[in-house]
Order: sequence, then C-alpha cells, then structure tokens
Amino acid sequence: MAVELQERSGTFRQYALKRADELKQMILPFINNSPKVPTGFLLSDAYESRRGNILSYFNATLEDWENWHWQMAHRITEAHVLNALLPGLTMDQCEEIERVGKTYRWAVSPYYLSLMSDTDPLDPIRLQGLPTLPELAEDFGEDDPMGEGITSPAPCITRRYPDRLIINVTNMCAMYCRHCQRRRNIGENDTHSPRTQLKAALDYIRANPEIRDVLVTGGDALLLNDLTLDWLLGELHAIPHVEIKRLGTRAPVTLPMRITDELCSILAKYPPLYINTQFNHPKEVTKDAKKAADKLISAGVVLGNQAVLLKGINHEPEVMKKLNHELLKIRVRPYYIFHAKNVKGTRHFVPRIQDGLKVMDQLRGYTSGLAVPTYIINAPKGGGKTPILPQYLVSLDEQHAVLRTWEGKLVHYETP
Ligand SMILES: *Cc1c(COP(=O)(O)O)cnc(C)c1O
Repeated sequence: MAVELQERSGTFRQYALKRADELKQMILPFINNSPKVPTGFLLSDAYESRRGNILSYFNATLEDWENWHWQMAHRITEAHVLNALLPGLTMDQCEEIERVGKTYRWAVSPYYLSLMSDTDPLDPIRLQGLPTLPELAEDFGEDDPMGEGITSPAPCITRRYPDRLIINVTNMCAMYCRHCQRRRNIGENDTHSPRTQLKAALDYIRANPEIRDVLVTGGDALLLNDLTLDWLLGELHAIPHVEIKRLGTRAPVTLPMRITDELCSILAKYPPLYINTQFNHPKEVTKDAKKAADKLISAGVVLGNQAVLLKGINHEPEVMKKLNHELLKIRVRPYYIFHAKNVKGTRHFVPRIQDGLKVMDQLRGYTSGLAVPTYIINAPKGGGKTPILPQYLVSLDEQHAVLRTWEGKLVHYETP
C-alpha cells in the first residue's frame, strides 16, 4: 500500500515537473523582452542628470524643485525654452510644437520634462506631453464624445450612474496630456470652479441620498489648494450618505511633489478616501512617484490606476504588463484600462479594439490577477463604462458550458 502511494506521488511529481517546465517556457518571451521596456527606476540616473540641467537653466535649487508651486510657476510652455532644455529637438520639431500649440495649448512641468528623452521623438513621455502635427487632423472625432454637456444635473456635476457622480473642481493640470479627453475645457484660462458652484454641487448631493460615492476630479483635483480641498472633503465627509470619496489626479505622475506632508495630514482626516491616478507607461513609475505613493498610503489613502490605452505608448502587451508590475511594486493597484476616446485631435493615439483585447488576453493567467485591470470602452453620449473581455465563455446552455481557459484550451463544464 505504502509503496503504491509512493509510486503514485512519484508520477504526480513527474507530471507537475513537466507542467512547471511548460509554464516556464511560456513566460520566457516576456522575460527576454522585458529588459527592453524602460522603467522609471532603471532610468533614475538619467532623470537626475536632466533635473540638474533644468535647475541650472532656471537658476534654481533642489528645494525649489521639491516645491510644487515652483513647478507650476515654471511649467514649460514655449518652444525656445524647450529647445534649451531638450537640445536634441530639431528645428522642425520646435516649429511643429509652436504651430500646433497655437491651436491646442501645451504645458509640461519641469518634473515631467525631466522624464523625457532628448533624442527620441517617439518617447512615450514626449508623446504624452509635446504637441505633434497629427493633432491638427480635422476629420476625426468630437469635442465632447462623452456627452458631458448633457449629463450635468447641477453645477460642476456629471451624473451618469445610479449611486455615484463626479464633481469637476478645476480645469487645471500640471501638464496638458496630448490625449486629453477634456481638451475642450483646457482653454487659455486656468480656473477652479467658483465656491458658489461647489456649494450648489454639495447641495445637490445632500438632496439626493442615493449618492454614496463622490468622485472629485477636473482637470486635476490635487491642483486645488490645501484650504479648498480641506473644506470640500470636510463638507463631503459630513454628509452621512456619502460612504466613500474619491479623487482623480495625475499629480503622482506629473507633479509628485504635490504630495506634501500638509496635504497628507488633510487627506488623513477624511477616510475612506480613494485616489485614482493615471500612469500610462513604466517610465513614469519613478522614485519620486513611489515616494508620493508611500506618503498617500501612510495617510490611509487607497491607490488605483486608470491607464488609457494609447497607440504607440502602451498598446503592446509587454509594455502594459510591465506597467502593471511596476505599479504593484509601488502599491498602486491597476483598476481600469480605458480605450482612448474619439476626441478631436487625438486620432493618432486611438488603438484598435483588437489591440486592447490582445493586451487583456496576455495578462489574464500569465500574470497576477492583481495586475489585471478591467478594460473599458466608454459608450458614446454618456452611455457609460462598458467592460470588454476576450471571449472566455464559448457557449452556454442549461446543462453545460464550454470555456476557453487563459492558455486557450477548450473545456466542457457541467452545470447541475
Ligand atoms: C467613471 C465615472 C464614475 C466612476 O465609475 P466607476 O466605474 O465606479 O469607477 C462615476 N461617474 C461618472 C460620470 C464617470 O464617468
């Protein structure tokens, strides 16, 4: 009996070893390609050296650099300054930036500029931050594909779901992303929503007790000053039916010095608080981003990421997988991948749905479930977030289902 068991477990072990070897072969292509995907941590020396150049150009100190007001006041908005800071830019590229900038505003924080490649026009940081000619294509997209104009029952509010809504508190950002879905709101005037309008938005929430989740966004919610944030979060915190609050911000990516001790002590007063940010490429996951994430987590904030699937930036499965791994290392949980919307001036970023499906197919099973966000297409005209999945349920009737497993095996599954 004992001998028989031993023999059997020996066979099991042999089987498991063979399977383990198969699994190892499956991950080898990723392991071989992965070092080719640059990350913020790997590039930290290059970033520091560019930071040095930027600081000497502005005749500023490291202390200035760490001050988010200094960063905002020294945003780069002119091609000749850019040219001095990124000497690798060609004359043609400078002219292009100037020309497109006349139609669509651009601005980059010194910090985000320090992540840019000097020489590679296809650098994912450059593509997100600096304007290019394809933005002027007139024959694509809408200004407001989300129909935000028609889903606002009160000032500053967008309501598209039964139990939650958005308050738009500002149109300001540290950087104007070239793929921005709200570029129609990014005019020449930087404005925070006036206090009277925010009060009207709060009144709407107070009057509608089914609202249990309030998402404060913009623009970038963390561009509000500490006093206003303290007031707004305090007001929301005092509404009994508001169970959770969320902030939408790209500050951890484009302006990590915004995450100050003072800000964190304010945020810590109003739990439960969730912050969703938008890292789109592993190059953005830097030491500074980690420091910002660590501080927020110490303040009790739960961090999530809403990436946008962007052609030429992160539409390749290896890049997106690496991004999600880097995010988990700094305790930011991948939450959504949004398919880029059909916004005028952004066609060059819009991937195919097939690209998104391929990304999802190569995440599930191949890596931690924690690194698998939900892939979303926003239905036109405010129809709402629609999840898109590769097909795993091949057929289903009363007695059985046919499933496709993560590695593509078809299996029958009986239902009682
Ligand atoms: C995205 C969004 C939300 C939040 O959606 P979740 O799926 O709960 O993250 C809420 N309101 C509006 C209008 C939105 O666009």
